[in-house]
Amino acid sequence: MSSVLTRTESRQSFVSNHTNGANGNANGKNSSRLINQYGLNTFNEDVMRDKLPKEVYRKLQDTIQKGARLDENVANSVAHAMKEWALEKGVTHFTHWFQPMTGLTAEKHDSFLDIDFDGQPVERFSGDKLIQGEPDASSFPSGGMRTTFEARGYTMWDPSSPAFIVDGPHGGILCIPSVFISYNGEALDKKTPLLRSMRALNEAARELLTLFGKNVDKVSTTLGPEQEYFLVDKNLYAQRPDLILAGRTLIGAQPPKGQEMEDHYFGSIKERVLAFMQLAEKELYKLGIPAKTRHNEVAPHQFELAPIFSEANIAADRNQLVMETLKKVANRLDLALLLHEKPFAGVNGSGKHVNWSIVDSDGNNLLEPGHTPEENLQFLVVLVAVLRAVHQYADLLRASIASAGNDHRLGANEAPPAIVSVFLGATLSRILDAIEQGNSEQSSAKKIIDLGIANLPKIMQDNTDRNRTSPFAFTGNKFEFRAVGSSASISMPATFLNAAAAESLKYFHDAIAVELKNNKDLKVACLAVLKKEIAATKNIRFEGNNYSEEWVAEAAKRGLPNLKNTVEALHSLRDPKNIKMLTDMRVYTDAELDSRFHTKLEQFCKTISIEAETLESLAKTMVLPAAISYQNSLIESVRGLKELAEVLESFDGLPEQVDLLKTVAVEISALKKALGELAACEEHAEGIEDLSSRADYVVNHTRKLLDDVRSHCDVLEEYVPDSLWSLPKYRELLFVM
Ligand code: ADP
Ligand code: MG
Repeated sequence: MSSVLTRTESRQSFVSNHTNGANGNANGKNSSRLINQYGLNTFNEDVMRDKLPKEVYRKLQDTIQKGARLDENVANSVAHAMKEWALEKGVTHFTHWFQPMTGLTAEKHDSFLDIDFDGQPVERFSGDKLIQGEPDASSFPSGGMRTTFEARGYTMWDPSSPAFIVDGPHGGILCIPSVFISYNGEALDKKTPLLRSMRALNEAARELLTLFGKNVDKVSTTLGPEQEYFLVDKNLYAQRPDLILAGRTLIGAQPPKGQEMEDHYFGSIKERVLAFMQLAEKELYKLGIPAKTRHNEVAPHQFELAPIFSEANIAADRNQLVMETLKKVANRLDLALLLHEKPFAGVNGSGKHVNWSIVDSDGNNLLEPGHTPEENLQFLVVLVAVLRAVHQYADLLRASIASAGNDHRLGANEAPPAIVSVFLGATLSRILDAIEQGNSEQSSAKKIIDLGIANLPKIMQDNTDRNRTSPFAFTGNKFEFRAVGSSASISMPATFLNAAAAESLKYFHDAIAVELKNNKDLKVACLAVLKKEIAATKNIRFEGNNYSEEWVAEAAKRGLPNLKNTVEALHSLRDPKNIKMLTDMRVYTDAELDSRFHTKLEQFCKTISIEAETLESLAKTMVLPAAISYQNSLIESVRGLKELAEVLESFDGLPEQVDLLKTVAVEISALKKALGELAACEEHAEGIEDLSSRADYVVNHTRKLLDDVRSHCDVLEEYVPDSLWSLPKYRELLFVM
């Protein structure tokens, strides 16, 4: 491939381009200090205070904090300040930046440049342009919600997430985080339902807190997504059509070394990777994204970045920016970033541990044990409410993380299984068991509080037991939802989790209120409800090894859903119980939910279809020609040996060599046959009108054939001479950097 550098060339260009500038600021000015870099490209609170008239600033803060409506004058004033700020930084264009159902982000740039009535150029950006946009949005997936004749979709500014500047090669772009809705106000994006779920949780949690005598302004959800990814040399990547088109290797024999030496996890970071991490972090800091930790992950060339957590909506925006920035920076350094959940067979895949908690406007984390028995009681109520949420809506949570890519991970030995359960750790389990067993009469209730709950913070402090196999684990003062895929938007899992938690908190509020009406004291009332709900949700708690066969059997006995693949899981979106909860909480309408179901099923079918076609083309144009060349040389050699054997009277090695030829020939034929079956399968799938039936067929037939085709390719890779094999192999992709 002439357009691609050789490996040595690409390494050299990397070294000259990037090592010199590693220290950034050559003149040693203090502007390179972290805190001076942080948020430089965001229209953050400091900038607002600085650039906006006092009154406008106050009104905007009201909108941001409490969702108050912005009037036209304020909007115009904010737009003006934003424009001036952006122009000073060399920005030429603005865009509403939104998150359609593709799971990616979308932008359509508009220049600040306008032409006045007298033909003079002016820079213009008005309040209405800031607040609303109307991209020609007919090509975004809507899952049938928006027919093309009424294709109009609107983007509306989300003031709760700060606007930011993305630097371009020749000027920046001002990005305005926005929701995307249809003409009738239906959510066409991932942000709108997330915002609604935050509102639902806010309402339910505040109401619950009043029982404990607390009136807080606001309760928010916090998210901290740990992002895993792979890096490979871009030159090698460019030679793998499967990585380019499908994001994962569709073929590839196992190298002699994988991750078995356990030498990569937390290992010292290679210089080329460190340069990437440092440059990426610099970009992220500018965008106001507090990248906090970085390390090597378990698989070779696998890494992780974790930011400091933030409010859910902002965290979701930031995670999208993290993924985009990592990709961009990798490309700049002649690396390719792989966000796919399973880019390589035989080594770990990538996930996104989404840490989730609830915090009130006084700064109290509701999932943190408190300092008094009363506070601990409140903590336990919130904790068990979350247990109830996961127990009731485990299938919905499973659906929220379903994708073709994540199917390769869930249930495999390195990742949480498709069965959703909760890990609490020994201390909390003991306390919940004690409450469940105690009767709710005053005396024993008091005993439990005295013995267990009163000491909670002290016990929790050194309670470090962790269960790495659990899909949903309590980790001290937050839950960690570990089954989310690495390439996924975190919005949907967070939305479902918030909605389910909101419903559950409301349920607890109502149940405790009933007990209080019966003249019970708060502690007794709480313990009575806790006792009942601890018993009712017991099945969702699992402390053992989630990877074990025994757990699969045990979970089945407990009646927990085990939705093995995306298609099975997505049907939870149409389950009446789930529709009721999500509509009751006013997070989705039935039509919006239905559209997610269709969009996700369609994405699944399309993904498999792209994989199938890519694999076919790889097999036909690269694997088969190489294998047949080798076969020909074997035929030649066997024929030659046979002739020679007649001359040399004693040569008895012929059968072994014929065997080698046979092995190769048999694999070639088997591959050809499997390819025929795959093509037939695809044709059949295309003919199935009903999306749901098509998805069933694709998951049960087409996808299985991908593995079949692959197995023959992988055997051939082990036989065909390296010189004939044009695809970079796993040993190069995973070990050359
Ligand atoms: P570990 O790998 O042990 O889980 P990390 O330090 O890699 O720990 O990641 C912890 C993540 O949890 C970080 O992204 C952090 O911001 C997040 N986190 C911590 N506290 C909270 C919280 N209250 N709410 C949401 N996320 C949190
Ligand atoms: Mg973690």
